[in-house]
Amino acid sequence: MNGTRVLVLNSGSSSLKYQLLDMADGSRLASGLVERIGEGPVADHTAALSKVSEELAAQGLGLDSPELAAVGHRVVHGGTRFTEPTLITDEVVAEIEKLVPLAPLHNPANITGIKVARELRPDLPQVAVFDTAFHSTMPESAARYAIDTEVADAHGVRRYGFHGTSHAYVSRATAELLGKDLAEVNTIVLHLGNGASASAVRGGVCVDTSMGLTPLEGLVMGTRSGDLDPAVVFHLARVGGLSTDEIDALLNKRSGLIGLCGDNDMREITRRMDEGDEAARLAFEVYIHRLRKYIGAYTAVLGRVDAIAFTAGVGENAAHVREAALRDLSALGIVVDGERNAVRGGSARLISADDSRVAVAVVPTDEELEIANEAYALVNA
Ligand code: ADP
Repeated sequence: MNGTRVLVLNSGSSSLKYQLLDMADGSRLASGLVERIGEGPVADHTAALSKVSEELAAQGLGLDSPELAAVGHRVVHGGTRFTEPTLITDEVVAEIEKLVPLAPLHNPANITGIKVARELRPDLPQVAVFDTAFHSTMPESAARYAIDTEVADAHGVRRYGFHGTSHAYVSRATAELLGKDLAEVNTIVLHLGNGASASAVRGGVCVDTSMGLTPLEGLVMGTRSGDLDPAVVFHLARVGGLSTDEIDALLNKRSGLIGLCGDNDMREITRRMDEGDEAARLAFEVYIHRLRKYIGAYTAVLGRVDAIAFTAGVGENAAHVREAALRDLSALGIVVDGERNAVRGGSARLISADDSRVAVAVVPTDEELEIANEAYALVNA
């Protein structure tokens, strides 16, 4: 057969992240980031991918290598059309283009990355892996908003969920950590990065998640509000005189932690709290309150919770966030061990007490590895 390497590309509007993985042993051969595309020497995504290609060639890992089996592309929005990793064809690109209205900032950049990579290696299988796909198993009761069905269907208004590759990877890794079959384990996954989302996963199948039509719904995030009364939007328009674009920017870029206290980095918020800063304290408390609400909600959704897994920048590193999120929940069978929680470490680990009915874990996420795995599995199917 052909090679065992997969190049993973994550194209943003002004950046291109890449990783080259060898699926024979899961090792990472190279990784990097091209930033400020369109601003200076890197004129566009074509130039950015040429740069990536040069960087790889300089390490003897050129894109012309027969070792390369596939390119895996992260695509943010798959709508209801894409529920699985998909081999990219002209038709698939056209379908992803149709989904641009649902993800106007992300999908165009993803499509550009796909087009450029296909021009460079037209012979190579290229696979789209969608952020929404893992959540496509949500029942209609969780996926529907309670609005007029005709209006909703006419405009694709429903809950899609995001961070799907991370929730898929972490729920599987949690079952492995527990030494149990994925099918037997019910897990609440808390992906707490700059963007943040929770999901309820029953036996490896997602049954609910906190992000919705867009990544704005749900938890308090670095710069996004998460849940709010939709009437806040009308109020800001009618009474505040803000335009639709201004409200969009307010809720996506100047809300969440940064809106509440001026900082979106949990490390800085913690430092300020330690100095007695009241705004930082309030931001932290709002963040934790929302998180606890989702933990309670997903406990009820799942009925029986076997594990709670923390992941991403905040979830993996901020012990005090984990502690505050699960404090005094022994009535739900959740007991965190303070010493275990305080240990820092790079690998998946348990932080629950021995007498905790629910296992609590810290599980580093690896979206690139998950994308590579899914792409590789598809081309070898
Ligand atoms: P993204 O959503 O951009 O992928 P990450 O998952 O990398 O984000 O998370 C980034 C966030 O993680 C930072 O904004 C910061 O709040 C938080 N973070 C990173 N390292 C630490 C740390 N050591 N302690 C607390 N928070 C951290």
